[in-house]
Amino acid sequence: MELIAALATPPGASALGVLRLSGDGARAAAEKLLRLKSAEGWLPRKALVAEALADGEVLDEVVAVYFPGPSTATGEDLLEITAHGSPLILRRLLAAAFAAGARPAAPGEFTQRGFLNGRLDLSQAEAVGDLIRARTDEARRRALRQLRGGLSDEIARLRRPLLELLVRLEAGLDHPEEDLPPLSRETAAKVCGEISRAARRLADTHRDGRLLHDGARLAIVGRPNAGKSSLLNALLGRDRAIVCPTPGTTRDTLEEPWEVGGAPALLIDTAGLGDAPEGPAEKAGMQRSLRALEGADLAILVVDRSKTPGPEDEEVHARIAETAARLGTPLLRVLNKCDLPPPRPEDAPWENGPLSVSALTGSGLDRLHGEISRGLALEKSKAEPILVASQRQAEALLGAAQALAEAEGAAAGTLDPALPWEDRTASGLRDGFRRLGDIVGEGTPEQVLHEIFSRFCIGK
Ligand code: GDP
Repeated sequence: MELIAALATPPGASALGVLRLSGDGARAAAEKLLRLKSAEGWLPRKALVAEALADGEVLDEVVAVYFPGPSTATGEDLLEITAHGSPLILRRLLAAAFAAGARPAAPGEFTQRGFLNGRLDLSQAEAVGDLIRARTDEARRRALRQLRGGLSDEIARLRRPLLELLVRLEAGLDHPEEDLPPLSRETAAKVCGEISRAARRLADTHRDGRLLHDGARLAIVGRPNAGKSSLLNALLGRDRAIVCPTPGTTRDTLEEPWEVGGAPALLIDTAGLGDAPEGPAEKAGMQRSLRALEGADLAILVVDRSKTPGPEDEEVHARIAETAARLGTPLLRVLNKCDLPPPRPEDAPWENGPLSVSALTGSGLDRLHGEISRGLALEKSKAEPILVASQRQAEALLGAAQALAEAEGAAAGTLDPALPWEDRTASGLRDGFRRLGDIVGEGTPEQVLHEIFSRFCIGK
């Protein structure tokens, strides 16, 4: 295919920067762009020291590796040049590559070529993106497993019995006179049902897959002065939010990256809920904090336990609990300021009640960590061998599960019997088989592929 070129390293000055070229004529371009230091010439897959040339002058001393296709990442001839990471050098090197016959690579085009040339399937290509974006070790491990074919193998395992069943059904439909062992409705229903449920189970892992890659949104909500900003700082281990003894200091919603139970998270501090808004800033803050609750994967309600809750406190807390319940958002009620004495002696001991912490001294924070992890049910998914990270994959799995459930219904005779059961079962089976194929990119339309790869960055 056409020769493409792009920088594989991010913009800005760094120690090293990498230029990649892939396609027909990569080797010829290498000879135009570089003058090798050794007399041995271009040895495949060997790092070689060379001078990079541009406009008749030596631009830099570089290391170049030439990978002849087809057993390369892109499935074609590939050249990687590591230069010094100066934006000027890299810009001129790229321009020289264009002058040598390459065109600029589109986002994700290197990976797309690897996919088109059968070097990796679509689920593996998507894992490249996940691996680069991974913010925690757990996310990295998962992405690497998928890159190595974890999901592809699982899809192949699900599709195998479907294909077998389809062959037997279609043989029976096309050549009923042939002496094949009859396929019972029970067997057909059993296989379709099992694979349908397995596909649904896999689709159900998507919530955790999403949390692992995109991060859980944790909204810290509560009354003004309850200690929300202090708790955010204590969890982060540094002072990020402004803490102030005057109620109502947090006007804006503050989002800070964090990590919990191996998953990336965003801690969201919000304006205190329930104070009569005084001006436009306070009002906007209140709306933002309600919205934060709506988009949250888990909400942490901070309650100041050093004072007796008034009717207004009770009302706001009840409103938060109601909203969380309506949205299906898990809510953790945290009693803060447990370093101070309780307002009424009869309220002690607090430890028996909900989570007691002190944002000031840090006491109880370990337990809170554990509760957040449990609230997000992250522990459960640790045991799952595969977590479906992309929405596209989850939708394909649900589509397959649905089609196979229909095939099961047809075989078991629970659906409209206008057509012979074999026809209806085969139709659901074909559909389910195709939807599972979408996950690995089998028969995926050009436009969908374009859409997926265009989300990648250039040089990938
Ligand atoms: P927010 O309005 O809910 O964000 O509350 P802040 O985090 O700004 O805290 C309000 C006040 O409570 C500040 O004076 C904090 O120092 C104090 N505070 C917060 N957490 C604790 C705690 O655990 N113990 C004690 N003694 N004071 C706290």
